[in-house]
Amino acid sequence: MAELYADIIVDISHEKLDRPFQYRVPERLREAVAAGMCVMVPFGNGNRPLKGYVIGLGDKCRFDPGKIKEVQDIVQGGVDVEDRMILLAGWIRRNYGSTMIQALKTVLPAKQSVKRLEHRTLQRLLGREEILSLLGESIRKKQVAKERLLRELAEQESIPCEWVTGKLGVSAQTIRSLERAGVLRVVSTESLRNPVKLKAREGEPEICDRPALSEAQRHIVSEVLEDFDRGMPDTYLLHGITGSGKTEVYMRIIEEIVARGRQAVMLIPEIALTYQTLSRFFRRFGDRVSVMNSSLSPGEKYDQCERARNGEIDVIIGPRSALFTPFPRLGVIIMDEEHENSYKSESSPKYHARETAEEVARLSGASLILGSATPSLESYYRAETGVYKLFALKERLTGGSLPRVHTVDLRLELREGNRSIFSRKLQELLADRLEKGEQSILFLNRRGYAGFVSCRACGHVMKCPHCDVSLSEHKNGMLMCHYCGYSEPKPAACPRCGSRYISGFKAGTQQIEEKLRELFPQVRTLRMDGDTTRKKDSYEKILAAFANREADVLIGTQMIVKGHDFPGVTLVGVLAADLSLGANDYRAGERTFQLLTQAVGRAGRGNIPGEAVIQTYQPEHYAVVFAADQNYEGFYAEEIIYRELGGYPPAAHMLAVQVFSADEGRGAGLAKWLADAVRGRGDVGAASPGASAAPQEETEMLRLIGPAPAAIGRINDIFRFVFYVKCAKYDKLVEVKDLLEEKMGERQLRTETVQFDFDPVNTM
Ligand code: ADP
Ligand code: ZN
Ligand code: ZN
Repeated sequence: MAELYADIIVDISHEKLDRPFQYRVPERLREAVAAGMCVMVPFGNGNRPLKGYVIGLGDKCRFDPGKIKEVQDIVQGGVDVEDRMILLAGWIRRNYGSTMIQALKTVLPAKQSVKRLEHRTLQRLLGREEILSLLGESIRKKQVAKERLLRELAEQESIPCEWVTGKLGVSAQTIRSLERAGVLRVVSTESLRNPVKLKAREGEPEICDRPALSEAQRHIVSEVLEDFDRGMPDTYLLHGITGSGKTEVYMRIIEEIVARGRQAVMLIPEIALTYQTLSRFFRRFGDRVSVMNSSLSPGEKYDQCERARNGEIDVIIGPRSALFTPFPRLGVIIMDEEHENSYKSESSPKYHARETAEEVARLSGASLILGSATPSLESYYRAETGVYKLFALKERLTGGSLPRVHTVDLRLELREGNRSIFSRKLQELLADRLEKGEQSILFLNRRGYAGFVSCRACGHVMKCPHCDVSLSEHKNGMLMCHYCGYSEPKPAACPRCGSRYISGFKAGTQQIEEKLRELFPQVRTLRMDGDTTRKKDSYEKILAAFANREADVLIGTQMIVKGHDFPGVTLVGVLAADLSLGANDYRAGERTFQLLTQAVGRAGRGNIPGEAVIQTYQPEHYAVVFAADQNYEGFYAEEIIYRELGGYPPAAHMLAVQVFSADEGRGAGLAKWLADAVRGRGDVGAASPGASAAPQEETEMLRLIGPAPAAIGRINDIFRFVFYVKCAKYDKLVEVKDLLEEKMGERQLRTETVQFDFDPVNTM
C-alpha cells in the first residue's frame, strides 16, 4: 500500500512558510487525517512537539524517505479562530492557486504595528490649596504657561492632555517637570477605533419597530433556525425581488443567532454599502455592529478584527473581505446580492467569496444564506440540484406593481427615419413625465464597452500603442487609454487613409445628457458614471440629490441600477441594451439579464405605476425578452442549456491559466510549455465535446483551449497570454493547477508570472 504524506504548516511566523514541511502519516491515522486539520508534529532538532496545520495530502515523498518524520496525533475538537484562519488560507491556496503567504495575507488582518488611539489625561496629585500655593513661585519666575496649567489644575482634578498642550499652550517639558515634582501624573488609556459609533449617534432615534414577519418570511427564519438548532446548519438561497423583505429576514436571523451567543457576518457589495442600508443595521443592533469597508484605514480595519475577537461586537457588515473577520463563535454568514461580480477577487488568490463562505461556514459550524433578486447561475443550479435549500419571496412589501415594459427595435427606428439615440416611444414618455413632474432614469448599458473613435471611410480604430485597446474620446478633444492612462489629441484626419470622417461612437453619458437638453431645454439632469463619482462620497451625494428631486432625469451607467430606492421614478429608459450582449464572454447573457432586470425594476417603486423602455438591436434575444418580463426562471432555463452545451460553469468548471511577461516571445513560449504539460497528462480530449466519448469518460475528460494572446494582449507593455482548461470536475482542475505549480518550480522564472483563475468572472 502506498504511503501517505502530509504537507504541514508548522509555524506561521516561519519564513519557509511557502514550502510546507512534509511528514509521513502513520498507518493508524491514515483514515482520520484530512486537509484542514490540526495535528501535532515533532519539530526541529529536539523534536519539540508543535501544533501544525495540514494543508494538503499526497503519496509522493519529496525528501529522503528514511529521514522523514511522522505526524504524532490529530488535535481533537477545539480549533480556535486563529487555527481556523490558517486552515482557511490553506484551503484557499489549494482551491484557487496562490502562494501560502498570499493566502495568509488575504485572511489575516494586516498585523502592522498599528498605533492605538491614545487618550492622555493629566491628573493632579495634590489638593487645591497646595496647588494654589505653588502659583506664587511660578509667577515670580514668569513661567506663564506653567501658571496657566496650575490654575486649571486647581479647579479640575483631571484635564485632557491635548487640551493642555493645545488650548493652554503648555509644552511637554513643563508637563514633565510638574510630573517629576509630584504635582500631577499623566494617565494614558487606549481604545479601539469604532468607525460606526459617530454615525449611529447622528442617525435616527434608536427606537426600532420590528414589523411582524409575513408568513413567507417567518417560514424562512424558522427553517434556518431549526437546522441550526439541531446542529445541521446548511446553505440557503433566498430568491426575492427587491423590496420583498429579504433584509428583514437577514436581520431577524442575525438577532436569533446572536441571542444564541454566536456572531454574524453580513456581506454586502461595496457599492450597496450606503448610509441608507447601514443605518437600518445600526438602529437594530446599536453598538454591537461594526462596518468594514475600503475607506477604513489599515488601523481601523485591524481594530475591527480585534473588537470581533474580544467580543465587543456581534455583527460585522462589509464587502467580500469582511468574511475573514475573526469571530470566535461565528454562527451565520449572509451574502446579499450574491450574484455580484465584486464577490470574486481579481487579484491572486482569485477566490470567490461564495465558495469561500461555504468553507468558512463549514469550519465554524455556521449557516450560510445567499440572497438575490437575480441569483447567479451557479447558485440557482446548486439549488436546483439540491445542494442549497431554495426559498422564494415573491411579493413586494412596499407596494407598487411591476412596471409595464416596452421593447423597441432600434433597427426599425432607423429604417423609419429616426436617427436620434432616443426612440420615438422613449421621447414620448419622457415628455409626458416632464410635464407631470415625475422623475425618469436613463440607463446606458455600457458594461464591457468603451466609446471608441473610428474612421467611417476605412474602418481604422484608434488604439493605445501600449495596451491593444481602443482609445476613448474625451470632451477636451483628447483620446485616452483607460488601462494605462496614455493620451493623445484626437486626429483631424484618419492616420491610415487620410479621410476626415473620423469620429467617436456617441454613446457616453455626457453625450446623452447633451442630446437630452437639445430635446428638452428645460430639463434638470444629474449624471452618474465613473467620471462624476471619482471623488469620495460623490456617489451618495448624487443619489441623495436625485432622491431629493433636485433633477428630473438621472443619467448613468450600471452603478445607478443598484442601491437606492426612488419612489418618484416612474420611467426607466434603457439605451442600447445590447452593448453588454456583445461582450466577448460567456457570462454576457447573464449580465445583460441582471442589469436589465434591475434597471426595469427601478420604475414604479412608489404609488404611481411605472413604465420602462428597452431599446435594442436584438429584441428577440432571450436575455432581453425575459428581463422585459421580469421572469428569472424562464431566463435560467434557457441560459443553463447554453452553459451545458458549451461546457461552461456551472455545468462544468473552467481554469484560466494567465501568463504575464515583458517579453512577448518568452511569454508565448512559457504559455505553450505549460499547456503542453497539461496535454502530457493524457486525459485531454478534443477542444469541444465529441460524440465518441462515453458520458462517464466525458465528465473526467479535460478540454484545453489555447494558449492565445489575451483579449487585451498587452497592458503597460506587459504581454498577456491565456489558456483555458475545462472539466466537469473541479478537483481535476485543482490537479492541473498543482501540476503546473510543480512545473514552474522547475524553471527559473525571471520576468514571467503565472496566475490561476478558477471559473473566471471576467475574461482576460
Ligand atoms: P429587500 O431586502 O428584499 O429589498 P426589505 O427587507 O428591505 O426587502 O423590505 C422592504 C421594505 O418592506 C422595507 O421598508 C421593510 O422595512 C419592509 N418590510 C419588510 N418586512 C416587512 C414586514 N414583515 N411587514 C411590513 N414591512 C416589512
Ligand atoms: Zn481611414
Ligand atoms: Zn494603454
